Amino acid sequence: MKELIDKLYETNSLSPEELKILIDNRNPEVAEYLFEKARAVRVENYGYDVYIRGLIEFTNYCKNDCYYCGIRRSNCKANRYRLTKEEILECCQVGYDLGFRTFVLQGGEDEYFTDEKIIDIVDSIKTRYPDCALTLSIGEKSYKSYKAYFDAGADRYLLRHETANPDHYRKLHPKAQSLENRKHCLYNLKIIGYQVGCGFMVGSPYQTTDCLVEDLIFIKELEPHMIGIGPFIPHKDTPFGHKEGGSLELTLFLLAIIRLMLPAVLLPATTALGTIHPRGRELGLMAGANVVMPNLSPKYVRKKYMLYNNKISTGDEAAESLNDLKKRIEAIGYQISVSRGDHKSVLVEELVF
Ligand code: SAH
Repeated sequence: MKELIDKLYETNSLSPEELKILIDNRNPEVAEYLFEKARAVRVENYGYDVYIRGLIEFTNYCKNDCYYCGIRRSNCKANRYRLTKEEILECCQVGYDLGFRTFVLQGGEDEYFTDEKIIDIVDSIKTRYPDCALTLSIGEKSYKSYKAYFDAGADRYLLRHETANPDHYRKLHPKAQSLENRKHCLYNLKIIGYQVGCGFMVGSPYQTTDCLVEDLIFIKELEPHMIGIGPFIPHKDTPFGHKEGGSLELTLFLLAIIRLMLPAVLLPATTALGTIHPRGRELGLMAGANVVMPNLSPKYVRKKYMLYNNKISTGDEAAESLNDLKKRIEAIGYQISVSRGDHKSVLVEELVF
């Protein structure tokens, strides 16, 4: 296994067969060797900095019905909410004062938020905080809409592909949604000029090692700037409420493989990882992740953006959770960076032009 890891470290790639062997034959010793390499590559690219993104969950209305997600349309037990533009701007102000220089607006696919409304929100945030990056994560839209948000000032877009295997995709989503369109959206976002993030859940129902290999190969081909992966966690009021969740161990192993495949990628230690283990996010950073995304949503809505059971930080104020996180990050030898935390390639382009 160590030879495969060395090859991955040196060439940033492995064949599908090799990836499958590596994943299927992992053990704690192999994992530790992989994590060491992943940390080395992360430090070469971004030093000991951890980038923070302030996550603002601004609506939990959604027209989609993904079988795994707690805010799916058919979950009539979900207590729905929308933030106003003023509330969103207040979250940004709280975040800005705490040192956040990236805001992530995430939500369900909520038709109330027309392009006009999104453009107005993007424009207001970028006018008030010109030194901050703005990330959108609001699902599948047309090229025209993505372009309009970009022209209004949005810098980045997160759209997890969820799984790169079409049969697996159909087992996670109703017919109205397709992997083809999801991928098409990701390529459109890249063409427009966004820093783009894709990603998937680890241990989602019906996922096999072959699915994971396909995910990794797709990621290598797309070459996104960011990759969001976290364990699948069942939500009790969804069709997958009784399915088994994904493991910490496999999530960490995949984070490290991804760091070696795309050395300069921005890789969050996700909230889901922090939910399944009390030190999940620190362990993610020790496996090659370099981003964390604390919650900046107003306290009164946090319990309502419940994608899965027992989501963390639903009772904290943004400031307390950041202080706690800062201490945890320093305890493992890293530090929070007060900066936009752009992908390396973007910084190079800025120097050139
Ligand atoms: N509507 C947006 C945002 C979706 S929520 C979009 O379509 O991109 C953000 C991510 O949470 C999803 O992409 C999914 O990968 C993850 N997620 C949803 N339900 C989950 C669950 N039960 N366990 C773990 N992650 C989940």
